[in-house]
Amino acid sequence: MAKTKRVLVVGSGIGGATAAYTLRRAGLEVHCIDTKLSTPATGAGICLLHNTMRALAMVGLAEQCQESGLAFQVFKQHDAKGQLLVSNPAPPGCGMRRPELARILEGAAESAGAVLEKGLTVSDLVDRGQEVEVTLSDGRQMTYDLVVAADGAYSKLRDRVFGPEHKTRFAGQSAWRFNAPRPPEVDGFCLYRSADGRRTVGAIPTSKETCYLFFLESSKEHLHMPNDQLHVLLRERLEGFSAPVIQDSLAQVSGPDQVVFRPFDITLVPPPWHRGRVVLLGDAAHSPTPQMTSGGGMAIEDAVVLAESIATSAGIPDALAAYSTRRFERVKTVYDASLQLCKYEQDPVPQPQQAAALLLQTYQYLGQPM
Ligand SMILES: Cc1cc2nc3c(=O)[nH]c(=O)nc-3n(C[C@H](O)[C@H](O)[C@H](O)COP(=O)(O)OP(=O)(O)OC[C@H]3O[C@@H](n4cnc5c(N)ncnc54)[C@H](O)[C@@H]3O)c2cc1C
Repeated sequence: MAKTKRVLVVGSGIGGATAAYTLRRAGLEVHCIDTKLSTPATGAGICLLHNTMRALAMVGLAEQCQESGLAFQVFKQHDAKGQLLVSNPAPPGCGMRRPELARILEGAAESAGAVLEKGLTVSDLVDRGQEVEVTLSDGRQMTYDLVVAADGAYSKLRDRVFGPEHKTRFAGQSAWRFNAPRPPEVDGFCLYRSADGRRTVGAIPTSKETCYLFFLESSKEHLHMPNDQLHVLLRERLEGFSAPVIQDSLAQVSGPDQVVFRPFDITLVPPPWHRGRVVLLGDAAHSPTPQMTSGGGMAIEDAVVLAESIATSAGIPDALAAYSTRRFERVKTVYDASLQLCKYEQDPVPQPQQAAALLLQTYQYLGQPM
């Protein structure tokens, strides 16, 4: 009888936790490690588009996400005062709180039999061809048939195995994010634009009771904000937005720990996404700007496709080749569209019509089978 294959998943974020679950369901013995010490209890929201919900449904997790978040089917555009300008139907998506998504994905992986260990990383790794020898940061020496690098956009494993040339670069924008109680009008993907069209605030429901808001800031240089001043700096930036949804939400923000600031650092690794028996997944392989709200969705799709490839291929090398081949064009389409939208927003002359057309076209593309 063939020996059960052992996989190490490095990173238990959205991609890693989903992969730990899907690979376990595909019959592999799964060990998943993460440097963080516990499942995050705080964090902003996330929008799971129609294709992401379909991928989650394929592995039996969509319902839990929908129950914990809020499903929506509308895309609304407003001016900075909150006046509704356009309301369009959108493909059915779901907004939810990131800690809830983490709880569901990690819980599913553990219930399926994956072993998750926190506060742990890879100290050393040698690919011997038929197996990978790994030294963990607690000194344990392990061997695996496969190592999945799901350690995010700043992946150390990618640097080690693929070289430093795939490091992220700054895309010229950063996001400010914060949570708030949900007013009834935040019942879908809502955008609020300044009169000159160059500044955008967004709001997305994350449950019946909550929503999250984001503000995009353009800059030539990579911005570094003082962590203890985030709430003050956010307030300054949103002064021109008098929409009650925005100002009422902002009134709930009383300290810097309620604000998440993150520059958009992007990368797209060309295929194949494996070297020997080490394979990239999620942001480690492709970290897009968030305009298409799809980075997490692409990581979830990666995890579903990787498990399918392993289940249907003769061996791990064939499975890894099939995985990159199936994923690359789709991921590149989303990555390119996200970056183009990000550039439109930085353009001295805003391009709202082109941006809306590209968004719609890419939504439709995402509806195609992955
Ligand atoms: C402003 C913003 C808004 C976004 N909105 C959306 C959205 O609405 N919808 C959507 O689908 N996507 C969205 N995204 C993208 C999404 O957050 C990412 O694509 C997604 O988190 C990628 O998941 P991941 O598991 O690949 O990486 P991560 O979520 O970054 O997880 C990586 C994990 O690896 C761990 N790790 C790191 N280094 C090591 C190491 N050396 N050893 C062990 N563990 C390690 C980390 O602790 C972490 O838990 C957004 C991104 C941004 C910046």
